[in-house]
Parts: sequence; C-alpha cells; structure tokens
Amino acid sequence: MRNFRNEEGNMVIGGLRAADIAARFGTPVYVTDESAVRENYRRIRDAFKPHMPVRVHFACKANTALAILRILEQEGSHIDAVSIGEVDACLRAGFPPHRILYTGVNVSDRELKQIVARGVNVNVDSLSELERLARISTEVNISFRVNPQVGAGHHSHVVTGAKSTKFGVPKDLIIRAYDRALELGFMPFGLHAHIGAGVQDVAPFVEVTEVLVGIMNEVESRLGLKLEVLDIGGGVGIPYRPEDKAMDVEAYAREVTSRIKGRCSAKTVAIEPGRYIIADTTVLLTTVVDVKETGDKRFCGVDAGFNTLVRPAFYGSYHHVAVANKFGRPGEFTYDVVGPICESGDFIAKDRLLPRVEEGDVIAVYDAGAYGFTMSSSYNMRGRPREVLVKDGLASVIREEESLDDLLRLERIPTRLMI
Ligand SMILES: *Cc1c(COP(=O)(O)O)cnc(C)c1O
Repeated sequence: MRNFRNEEGNMVIGGLRAADIAARFGTPVYVTDESAVRENYRRIRDAFKPHMPVRVHFACKANTALAILRILEQEGSHIDAVSIGEVDACLRAGFPPHRILYTGVNVSDRELKQIVARGVNVNVDSLSELERLARISTEVNISFRVNPQVGAGHHSHVVTGAKSTKFGVPKDLIIRAYDRALELGFMPFGLHAHIGAGVQDVAPFVEVTEVLVGIMNEVESRLGLKLEVLDIGGGVGIPYRPEDKAMDVEAYAREVTSRIKGRCSAKTVAIEPGRYIIADTTVLLTTVVDVKETGDKRFCGVDAGFNTLVRPAFYGSYHHVAVANKFGRPGEFTYDVVGPICESGDFIAKDRLLPRVEEGDVIAVYDAGAYGFTMSSSYNMRGRPREVLVKDGLASVIREEESLDDLLRLERIPTRLMI
C-alpha cells in the first residue's frame, strides 16, 4: 500500500487528482505511476547490489503492458516469461533475447519450437521437456527448474514449490537431469526454483536457497559442472492491508546472498519479482454508479467487477479501497463494494468502512498493478478497461478500452445460419 498525497480531500497519483483522471479517461481505468515502477525496481535491485551481482527478472505475467515493459527495459531489468506470447511482447517492447528467461510448465513441442526460434534462455521444467527440446536444438542456453519441496504463498492456488505441485524437475531426479543435459550436448548455466506468491517472510527464501546451494554442490562434485546462476524465483509479497508489514528486502537480500557467497559455484543470484515491482504502482479507478441499502447491508455498486479485477473473487484477496474524491474523510458506514457482473461472487471489497458514498464518487482500488489487468476478461461482453500511465502531472493512455468490435472481431457466423 502506497501513501498517496491528499490535496484538498483528493487522492493524488503521479501529480494528478485521481478524480480528474477518472473524469478525463472514463472508468474503470487502471492508472500506473511510472516513478513508482522505477523506485520499486531499484529498491529490490539495490538491496542485493552490495552483496553480490544480481539479475532482476521481472515476472511479466503480473503486468505485460508494453509501456511498462519499456520502463523496465530502460531500467536494465531481465524478464521471466511463462509463455510464447509473453516472450514476444517483451521482444516487441525492446528486450534483447538474452535478457529473457522462459519458464514454462507442460510446454508443447509447438511452443518449444517458437521459443527456440526467438533465441531466449530456457528454464527446463521436466525430463520430457529436455528430451523434446534436444530434438529441436541443443544450441539453447538452459537452466533447470527444480521442485525444491519448499512451498509458500497467500493462497493454495499459488503455492508452486511444494512436492505435491506440478512444477519443476523432482528433487531426486535433478542430478540425472543435468547429467542427461550434458550427454545431449547442452551446457546448463543455472538452477531455479519458485516457491509461490505473496510470501511475506524471509525464512522460506532462505530455505529454498539452501536447497539450491546443496543441489549446485552435488552437480559440481558429481558431474564437474559449475553452474553460474542461482535463481530463487519470485513471490515476494506486499502489504495489501493497512496492518500488514512490508517485507524487509534488505534482510531478504542479505540472508539469501549470505547462503550463496563462497558456498557454491554461483557468481550471480537471480530473482523474479512480479508483484513486488508492479502491484502498488497502480490503482484501479471505478465510479460509484448505484448505492443500495438492504435491511442489514449497504452496497456500493461500481462499474468494475471481477471481469476488471478478479483477485477478490478468485483468491478472496484483500484490496484496500478509498473514496478518491473524499480522501482522508473518516469512515461513516460499512459497505460491500460490488460490480456489475451477474454473480454474487462479484465483489471488489467487503465490509469496508468508508465515508458516505454517493453516485458519481470515484473509488480507488489499491495495489491493482499485479495480476490486475493481466487477469481481466471480457466476461459479460464488457471490454477490458483503459490503462493510463502517469508521471509528474502528465497522463498517457497506454492501452485503449476494448470496444465491442474488438470483442467480436474474431467471430464468424456460418453462412447457413444467416438465412
Ligand atoms: C509467477 C512467477 C513469478 C512471480 O511471482 P510474484 O508473486 O509476482 O513475484 C516468478 N517466477 C515464476 C517462474 C513465476 O511463475
């Protein structure tokens, strides 16, 4: 949660009043503060810098807006991509292939061929993928994703490092995987694990680092292979609730690197933050369109639903909300903030104490930059919303609102149905 400036009862983002942005661009609209993106990137990179060389791979599934990828490219970021679509978006945003690491799961041969053609690095998820990749090319820089049997996360859906999950080469097969890779003619450069998402303490990251260091040493002693990059994945959480504490990234960097330096062959540590870099840079602005009181509840009806931001409905996630044009006013009533989708599961926020809301007020939904727009849909035939980038009082549209034509462009009605 970022602290936004309050100007005469108005929330200010990127030097502009949120309510003015809403009036100018319409709602719902995702609004990203460019300076915040750069600050977050630099904070996590700089936490590692004093300890050892670090590669920050932005996990772009959190946010693939080309303008945001441009900002991170300018900052020198690397990329963690999980699909050919993400790889191509990053290439179009100007990332050179060597700064992109592709980490797929259950990768088809078709996608593998496309990935190889792009010349990006490949983080191999299984022995099957290794064999299939070798049939396409062995001129690929590869690392392995191991299942470290260390899992953590804000919801069972996002725990990826536990033994029971589908991800990575099982720990007891990882030496065999490197052995086989060498036999096939690859020269693997690294080892990777990703434990999950929304992790707030340092301990699971230390634990996974120790597992990776142990494997690296075994790879070196048994196969004579010195792996250069130890990649601890992403998953650094952020404080979504006012009472949550921010992760101490200095401690995270210090503790993790102290387990690596001088203890294995790795010269570089890689991290893959998605949420940490982009979540709090963005608010979703949505207009109050309807206010309803039932016997025991007050509903604040807004023009954003789970088509716009699915995390509350899908994970039960908390997103802080504020009335942007009554910013800082004390709460008066408890509201459920609900959207226009025809399902009772369609909510943005539940049981929130807010100043009295009226039609036309603008609600700001905090921390919407990660897994916000990228998980949005056109459910109920509503186009995805506009995205706007703000910086020092300037606002630019970085993605237009989808029109009905956009939604229908790929549809075909067989002529026999036209009579
Ligand atoms: C999703 C993902 C990440 C990023 O997760 P965050 O919780 O956004 O930091 C990093 N690495 C891999 C392989 C992922 O799938």
